[in-house]
Amino acid sequence: MPYPECMHASLLAVEATRARRLKETMPRMSLAAKQQVLESFHPDYRAESFRPLAVGPNRGDRVPHELADLLEARSRIDPAMFDVTRIDYDTDVLILGGGGAGTAAALTAAEQGVRVLLATKLRWGDSNTIMAQGGIQAADKENDSPAQHYLDLVGGGGFVNIPELARALVTDAPAIIRWLEELGVMFDKEPDGTMRTVHGGGTSRRRMHSCRDYTGMEIMRVLRDEARNRGIQVLEFSPAVELLLDESGQCAGAILCDLETEEFFVVRARSTIIATGGMGRLHVQGFPTTNHYGATADGIVLAYRAGARLVFMDTVQYHPTGVAYPEQILGQLVTEKVRGLGAQLLNVEGEQFVNELETRDLVSAAIIRECTQRNRGVVTPTGMLGVWLDTPMIDIKRGPGTTARALPAMVRQYKRYGIDITSEPILVYPTQHYQNGGILINERAETSIPGLYVAGEASGGVHGRNRLMGNSLLDILVFGRRAGQTAARAALQTRLGALTLRHVEQYHHALAATGSLNGLIAPMILPDYTSPASKIRRQGGIPIG
Ligand SMILES: Cc1cc2nc3c(=O)[nH]c(=O)nc-3n(C[C@H](O)[C@H](O)[C@H](O)COP(=O)(O)OP(=O)(O)OC[C@H]3O[C@@H](n4cnc5c(N)ncnc54)[C@H](O)[C@@H]3O)c2cc1C
Repeated sequence: MPYPECMHASLLAVEATRARRLKETMPRMSLAAKQQVLESFHPDYRAESFRPLAVGPNRGDRVPHELADLLEARSRIDPAMFDVTRIDYDTDVLILGGGGAGTAAALTAAEQGVRVLLATKLRWGDSNTIMAQGGIQAADKENDSPAQHYLDLVGGGGFVNIPELARALVTDAPAIIRWLEELGVMFDKEPDGTMRTVHGGGTSRRRMHSCRDYTGMEIMRVLRDEARNRGIQVLEFSPAVELLLDESGQCAGAILCDLETEEFFVVRARSTIIATGGMGRLHVQGFPTTNHYGATADGIVLAYRAGARLVFMDTVQYHPTGVAYPEQILGQLVTEKVRGLGAQLLNVEGEQFVNELETRDLVSAAIIRECTQRNRGVVTPTGMLGVWLDTPMIDIKRGPGTTARALPAMVRQYKRYGIDITSEPILVYPTQHYQNGGILINERAETSIPGLYVAGEASGGVHGRNRLMGNSLLDILVFGRRAGQTAARAALQTRLGALTLRHVEQYHHALAATGSLNGLIAPMILPDYTSPASKIRRQGGIPIG
């Protein structure tokens, strides 16, 4: 058996309850019970983990300390020293971020006949998009409709989603699936050629379209190939470190850093799109994360300093099923599709404690309750806690071979550690997964700053306080395309004045005046797992390290 001896008794309990569990359905919680579990156990309700922001458009709003630290840090750029008159690149549309949202925006902007430059922090495609496993939602079956999708989206989001954004998401969804198919995405299909769809947590219809368990990888492969074919200019290893405004206050491009030479350079752009993704690598409240190394909230920091408003930054999505054992892959995602296919969540005694298809926030809170207050978690040899996800139930319920067909990447991943997920359950615990909030946009992806647009996980409002599975891959394409189109059309009309960093100067002063300027430098760019070495190559800039 691949599991250590201290877990054997619990594994036997899991096997012993299987026959009974096959006939049982764990009831869903009432709204009142759900609220009570969330308030008592979800990390978003730990008041001591948040603090109000001292300055900026969201002054007084509470955000996690880890994010507040970055929003109260000094810029990498010294606005008094940095020469913004030396323009290194000039373009119509500058896109920051080479994940799904950024690449979709680039394709759509280029279709409008403008010059497009995409700059990204690591390699093009190194992103959360490429890591997405489970699928993408769209109401395109006969028993479903965008209206039904809307109800699920808003119910899952706590009824606070911004209605225009929610409407845009669900109404564009069927066309997004068609667009992806036309570009060459290989969706899972039934033998008769119709799309195979499954349930996600909190959904009333089967509307999750997937490409096995590497949906994001397949979508990113196709988008990147298409953008390459169309000759879109891309700068890799070139993170944005500050936005530039012009004298009238409209966004006018960004300062980027070449990670190889550590040189800073200026891109002047008539429109700028932030598509820099989320903030998993801040490890809010010490949680592990599913996110890629570049998810360090850079776009949030840049936009906030320039005066853009944020929404719902006091809510973080913890995915209920992050790996808790083996520790080599701690925090990595076990896709919700596993529960959608029939795997149940069990405590140390092999008993169910929550309906596995409740929304993510509730399932996470229920797992935390089981492991803490009820003391019915499974303890690993190093003292980590977790609960079982009974993966063998998938083949038992749906027939032998289902797991291997639907979750090939996960089967391989666990095999490396000697665990056969078709015959043995796996141990899971919540992990930081998604930034529910972000920079406030409208349905055209515009922000409160003229010339600045946002798409994807960096934006906020679409999902309210809790995103449902499969709605983010949809979000990045719906709003990536909308941002690309709006930004390109606006660029054709825009005249820029002289570039300035006055907003950075003013932000530093405001922080200093409130005594909240800390000793940190932001954006973070790379997570701080090693100690940085410092070298300055262009006067007025602090290099990445
Ligand atoms: C493991 C995992 C599984 C998931 N599964 C699903 C799923 O099944 N279905 C679903 O709907 N959603 C899923 N999600 C969520 C979804 O994948 C993401 O929310 C979404 O792909 C984000 O896309 P994005 O383009 O906004 O950001 P990303 O794809 O993260 O792209 C952001 C890009 O910006 C770059 N960048 C960052 N900072 C800078 C900077 N300063 N300058 C320039 N570039 C920068 C990054 O390097 C990256 O290339 C999953 C997420 C993870 C982590």
